[in-house]
Amino acid sequence: MKAEILCVGTEILLGDIVNTNAAFLSRELAKMGINVYRQTVVGDNANRLKASLRDALDKNDIVITSGGLGPTYDDLTKETAAALFGLELKLDEASKETIENFLKMTHRKITPTLMKQAYLPDGSYALKNDCGTAPGVYLEKNGKVLVMLPGPPRELQPMFLNYAEPKLMKLTEKTMVSHMVHIFDIGESTVETQLREMMTTMTNPTVAPYAKDGEVTVRVTAFADSETAAEAMIKPVIDEIQTIIGNKHIYGIDVPNLQTALVQKLKACGKKIATAESLTGGLISKRITEVSGSSEVFECGICSYSNRIKNKVLGVPQETLDKYTEYSAETAAAMAEGVRRLSGAAIGISTTGIAGPGGGTDEKPVGLVYVGISTEHKSDARELHLSRGFGDERELIRYLASSHALYLALDELKDQFGQ
Ligand code: ATP
Repeated sequence: MKAEILCVGTEILLGDIVNTNAAFLSRELAKMGINVYRQTVVGDNANRLKASLRDALDKNDIVITSGGLGPTYDDLTKETAAALFGLELKLDEASKETIENFLKMTHRKITPTLMKQAYLPDGSYALKNDCGTAPGVYLEKNGKVLVMLPGPPRELQPMFLNYAEPKLMKLTEKTMVSHMVHIFDIGESTVETQLREMMTTMTNPTVAPYAKDGEVTVRVTAFADSETAAEAMIKPVIDEIQTIIGNKHIYGIDVPNLQTALVQKLKACGKKIATAESLTGGLISKRITEVSGSSEVFECGICSYSNRIKNKVLGVPQETLDKYTEYSAETAAAMAEGVRRLSGAAIGISTTGIAGPGGGTDEKPVGLVYVGISTEHKSDARELHLSRGFGDERELIRYLASSHALYLALDELKDQFGQ
């Protein structure tokens, strides 16, 4: 069953409002096992709306529109749809009564313009509007289903959930299940290359990667008659992704973020962590302590911005700072070791580097970052080049550095204690 969401409104095209209705409807339809093949936006223009609606109905079994059901002259969705199907608009008594009651309740006058909303294409069903005056429309005709909903999200959402969804559910008995595989330390293009065959050949389950904030998430989605059947279809696909990508780079399945994966792993291993941060300025501590229950595993975070504190508090040898500078693997490793010893935690992690926009040199450019890690077995550091060459990337570099530090700690725990 193919569906299209057609949102009507010049405001969306102008960027004045964000198309949250499309996102809401896509999510809800996916849950029901209805595949949304296209989202379209068209302005309040009769000819273009007609062309878009005709095309959407030609290509899909279900079309859901949002907007253009109101009382004003530019609210044209119902009129256009009725004309396309060759249907008259007829007064719907129940909608008329609802509108009258609503207007009375809100102390507004009943006008012919407002009553325009009670006219629906002949043979369609009115979808009640519990939060406004314009009823929605459910129309089944010529093997197609057209659902027309009002624009305001506070009207559209309850109308869809309470009145449209039960009707649409009858068209499908499918259930959809999705799982997210979270990947770090491999670029999106590498993931896409490695999973290309799965992505291009599979239709159910489907495999789709998304990249954001230096991470790649692969969404695996199956439609089936039951949740159990969908889960059974997904499992071998996730197993295969784990084999192809390698568990080293998969930090979790369905976990909200890296810091949660790390906190969970620390708890499972019964270990604690401490941080010594220079360029991230406390961001790693912030991310760890965002996770509820992190007090069980987070010992302390030291924001050691100056070399004096790196030396005096963390015990980074002055010779190390003099010889290698603060932007070095040696300093990062010594910072991690220092905070581990000071706190008594099992793992110390650290960051130091140049976030820019100023401060870079040919030898040590902006984006050069060292992430340190220390355990009772070793203290060392990883050199990273995090600049993507987009001007001021200070926040991005700091965020990516914090992610790498979290990942390094998680990776170390996996090495020591297994997956
Ligand atoms: P009304 O009776 O309020 O005129 P309508 O069905 O005619 O309802 P529109 O006039 O198209 O809807 O939009 C009304 C308001 O709803 C917009 O100003 C906007 O705030 C919101 N809206 C419309 N479309 C969307 C959308 N796709 N996503 C989010 N909000 C929207």
